[in-house]
Amino acid sequence: MEAFSRLIAAPSVSSIDPLYNQSNREVAEMLANWFADLGFSTELQLVSSNPDKLNMIACLGQGDGGLVLSGHTDTVPYNEKLWMQDPLKLLEKDNKFYGLGSTDMKSFFPIILAALEKIDLEKLNRPLYILATSDEESTMAGAKALVSSERALGRHALIGEPTGLKPINMHKGILVETIKLTGSSGHSSDPDFGVNALEGMHTVISSLMKLREEIQAQHKNPLFKVPVPTMNFASIQGGDNPNRICENCELTIDMRMLPSMDLNDCRAAIRRNVMQAIDGRRLKVEFDQVFAGMSGMQTDGNAEIVQLAEKLAGEPTGTVAFGTEGPYLNSIGMETVVLGPGDIDQAHQANEYLLLDRIDPMITILEKMITHFCINEG
Ligand SMILES: [Zn+2]
Repeated sequence: MEAFSRLIAAPSVSSIDPLYNQSNREVAEMLANWFADLGFSTELQLVSSNPDKLNMIACLGQGDGGLVLSGHTDTVPYNEKLWMQDPLKLLEKDNKFYGLGSTDMKSFFPIILAALEKIDLEKLNRPLYILATSDEESTMAGAKALVSSERALGRHALIGEPTGLKPINMHKGILVETIKLTGSSGHSSDPDFGVNALEGMHTVISSLMKLREEIQAQHKNPLFKVPVPTMNFASIQGGDNPNRICENCELTIDMRMLPSMDLNDCRAAIRRNVMQAIDGRRLKVEFDQVFAGMSGMQTDGNAEIVQLAEKLAGEPTGTVAFGTEGPYLNSIGMETVVLGPGDIDQAHQANEYLLLDRIDPMITILEKMITHFCINEG
């Protein structure tokens, strides 16, 4: 309980808006101290030029293989007025732990500590890593820094994001793109007085809808509830007066790719398509990628950790509709399953809570997983 409340009490909001963005140093150092007390070697890894954004990597045991237990230290921004209590003060009520990050996903770390209490750590003959990243909720800077540091970690990884104790081996990727068209204004009475950006956007939308059709015909994965990649036309702005030719028009789309699709290829295809659509129209186009986007995750359903997670959770592996750091971990040689005690419908909400009856089963899952990969396998 104390570890839960101390983590919740340490603010660590990450946001692309500098107004809300906070350091995660307090959380990272707290975790480093706790794991160091258990004999782990610990390291704080800078993730950017900002000295107050850190990954924490703790390791116990030596050799190759082994297990990585991974979670993020940051939370999303919050609006205190919407909370019934101080979001940074853990409240136990109605068999729930309320607090910012209770479900997504600070509680994962005290649960790891509780699992370690049940294990004779002297017996470890494969390494056990605890990875606590920064900025998962905003830029993925922590995961990216880990990838570029080429720091070798274990072979098998579990991310404790909120999945309601169900193992997840796949999720889609995300790409957000804003397309800005600039023409020129003029009196509405004669089209030749200007170049209409809104009409240009009409062509762009038609062309992107055609691209969507083509992509959906090429890519299918029946394991997802929506088995094809999607492209949502999210917002459009443009024009002002009825008697003026529309000079500016801006469209934002959100694409969810299947894990087999490459983020950069998809972005390039969208941009190529837009350029072709407005070719010869005297319109200027600018692209803004809003955020860097992320690839989907796909871990082989036969991977040892996926199979073990299914067995321990008593649930078949499935897919989720949110993104995780899984693709980054997989890209550096891990096989990753996502399995955590929280519920995603609680994440990013005021009055976020974790159901207390999820804690003991998660402790047991981790205890068995550590035993399997770090003691029995050696
Ligand atoms: Zn999360």
